[in-house]
Amino acid sequence: KFSGFAAFTEITQEADIAAGLHGGRAKCLQRLIRLDLPVPRTVALSFEAVHRIAQGQMPDMAALLEGFGAAPLVSVRPSSEDPDWGGPGAILNIGMNDARHAALCDTHGEGAATALYLRFVQAYAVHVARLDPDMFEDEKATPETLRAALAAYEEETDTPFPQDPGRQLAEVLRSRARAWEGTTARLLRQARGAPADAGLGLVVQAMALGLGPLESGSGVIQFIDSATGQRRITGRYLSQSQGREALGSGQGALYLMRDARGRSLEESCPEIYGALCRYGAICREGLREEMQIEFTIEANTLRILDAVRVVRSARGAVRVAVSLVEDGIIPREEALMRVEPRAVSELLHSQVDPRGVRDVVATGIAASPGAASGRIVFGSAAAQASAARGEPCILVRRETSPEDIRGMHAASAVLTERGGMTSHAAVIARGLGLPCVVGVSDMRLNLRDGVLVLADGRKLREGDILTVDGTRGQALMGEVQMLEPALDEAFHAFMGWAEDVCDISVRANADTPADAQTARLFRADGIGLCRTEHMFFDHDRLTVMREMIFADKAEDRAAVLARLLPMQREDFTRLFEIMQGLPVCIRLFDPPLHEFLPHSREGVRELAEALSLPVSDVNHRVRALSEFNPMLGMRGVRLGITVPEIYDMQARAIFEATIAVNRSGAPVVPEIMIPLVSAMREVELVKARIDSVAAGLRSRRGADFDYRLGVMVETPRAALRAGDIAQNAAFLSFGTNDLTQMTYGLSRDDAGRFMGSYVKQDVFHEDPFHSLDTEGVGELLRIGAERGRQARKGITLSICGEHGGNAESIAFCRSVGFDYVSCSPFRVPVARLAAAQLAL
Ligand code: PEP
Ligand code: MG
Repeated sequence: KFSGFAAFTEITQEADIAAGLHGGRAKCLQRLIRLDLPVPRTVALSFEAVHRIAQGQMPDMAALLEGFGAAPLVSVRPSSEDPDWGGPGAILNIGMNDARHAALCDTHGEGAATALYLRFVQAYAVHVARLDPDMFEDEKATPETLRAALAAYEEETDTPFPQDPGRQLAEVLRSRARAWEGTTARLLRQARGAPADAGLGLVVQAMALGLGPLESGSGVIQFIDSATGQRRITGRYLSQSQGREALGSGQGALYLMRDARGRSLEESCPEIYGALCRYGAICREGLREEMQIEFTIEANTLRILDAVRVVRSARGAVRVAVSLVEDGIIPREEALMRVEPRAVSELLHSQVDPRGVRDVVATGIAASPGAASGRIVFGSAAAQASAARGEPCILVRRETSPEDIRGMHAASAVLTERGGMTSHAAVIARGLGLPCVVGVSDMRLNLRDGVLVLADGRKLREGDILTVDGTRGQALMGEVQMLEPALDEAFHAFMGWAEDVCDISVRANADTPADAQTARLFRADGIGLCRTEHMFFDHDRLTVMREMIFADKAEDRAAVLARLLPMQREDFTRLFEIMQGLPVCIRLFDPPLHEFLPHSREGVRELAEALSLPVSDVNHRVRALSEFNPMLGMRGVRLGITVPEIYDMQARAIFEATIAVNRSGAPVVPEIMIPLVSAMREVELVKARIDSVAAGLRSRRGADFDYRLGVMVETPRAALRAGDIAQNAAFLSFGTNDLTQMTYGLSRDDAGRFMGSYVKQDVFHEDPFHSLDTEGVGELLRIGAERGRQARKGITLSICGEHGGNAESIAFCRSVGFDYVSCSPFRVPVARLAAAQLAL
């Protein structure tokens, strides 16, 4: 027996009910009662009471059932603190016994009475007495099946079916309380984020019978479309039914709204339908949320049993938040807090419609969000041919290299067997806004036989159709139903509010005019990283670039660079024009040269043809440029110092573009960034040459212009020596892709292979290429920022690795006082919202 303790509380307007004591359902029911909705009498049992029940104590049942009438009929439902944590199933019709059955036969008809009793006996036998469910299968309710169920109960338990409602209720409460404390249930809810000591409340509610005379039945209704957030009534109603489970079967269901397809509740019971719509509006305003309402109609009388927040897609969440603001129900700040930043990226791309079926055939790392279907192709040529025919295609590769850029441009999505979050395919796909899944280790691409072998042994050939879901990191068989991007007014309004409250700038990593346009569309504050080497991947330029690499003599190289100069100048001019005076940070050439050389036999032959050289010469050259560790080899500033003509040409192109744009458009102060620096002397050498290119141009052209020279901090040494380096750098931008790679000694291109198992075993909490390692790499950032600031007051600090688009990483950058983060254009809105939430 409970003693000296309030075991239960009737939920009334005034009662002391709290989500933290009685659970979310109890609290929500109280809110509905306060809004004057017709909720049947409900009593709440607190976490503490339910815990005591599990331990063997029991409140006074007679007292609990007082107020539910002489012959009570009630339901018991779980009420955990957070509805997502789940809870044991509801039990309905507690109180059914022989006498009640006989009485209901008279008032509700024999069919309804028998169905109610049988359903309760079945539920009680299986969930309370824990008898074999097979013996109590869902059977048609007849007097015979009811008799058989009662007999089976008696035989199995050696006792007749309990007739006392108090005893029935006590047993139901005990079974629910114990179910919550079981190990499996605990593990399940912990996996959903519940703390180890999460409590369960229970609510006991008077039954509203959906079976019986006149219009009786049960249903759920909501006023928005869960997938789009648009206002639309959806739900189900089933005459002569009880509970959510019955609705699932759907047979005999009525449509809610007037519908050409069949009978509707709106037509048959217009008043009830009208009341439901009214209650929907009251809930929306009173609870400041879109709610799904569970209701029962008992002999033409409407009862509201419960209401839960409508589960919705990301686009649904944005639209709902905006519409609640527009209707004056919530303030903008609250709307901003209600949408998860990650979810915003779902709006920018097509998505697999969650309502359809998914035949997942391979999984990997979700490298770039969005989804697309198409015929698979195994190479760039096939991708381009497919695009030329106007047929969407999916480029499947073991991994991608600069040679695949053409194919990626032509493809609708990319799938690679290898790679991680910052591998080539991932970075390029994010830049292009292409759905991409990398590190799909459960598929094998066999190029010799032209087949893609799936984990289950199925073989796909070029032309077969797949869907890539880059949001979830899956490949699905065939074509699936999609939701189109939702860059609508609601989205733009929402992002505008985010911009208003942000206190850290968000720039975009944009390499091409198309990227810059996207950056503008998403209202980036500028370009934080233009990877100039990406400007050389177009087919015509790739050949010129290769000629440059093949030039033996300085004058030959100068001649080829002279051909590249106008192309680069044109690129920068376009970027400056598109960005209209917003800052543009251009990184000088970074990758090892051999990345531009062909890797396949066919590629070598093509190049030999283009350069009129024997294949053996090309092969020789490719071999000569190969390195054991190219990412740690001759790249970045090391190349800039050994072959300085490349940087000279780029600087000149930048300055000439600046002069041109300054004459006609919004004035530009270009930012030039040196990659992969590890020593101050590197910066001095490059700075001297760039300054001299600028001085030369100023005097020759009689034009004045400004520029800012900065350093990309991508090596641990650069972070540690940021004090020296800052003396020659107006800004430091942390390239956390390489910095993570070098701090961990972890290859950004190969780590995908074991990253999954590392994260699963909690060696790393998360992929450090995805979410900044704030402890290790973060410490280098902190040191770099501090020393840089000390040496040069007012130095601009930023991050431009892929982490710039990750919410947790942005929080870190903001806490260290960075001026901006820079990320792929398609991640700008995500970063912006994350930053706004941090500022609120
Ligand atoms: C980085 O290393 O973080 C970076 C932004 O440069 P990239 O990815 O081009 O190496
Ligand atoms: Mg880098």
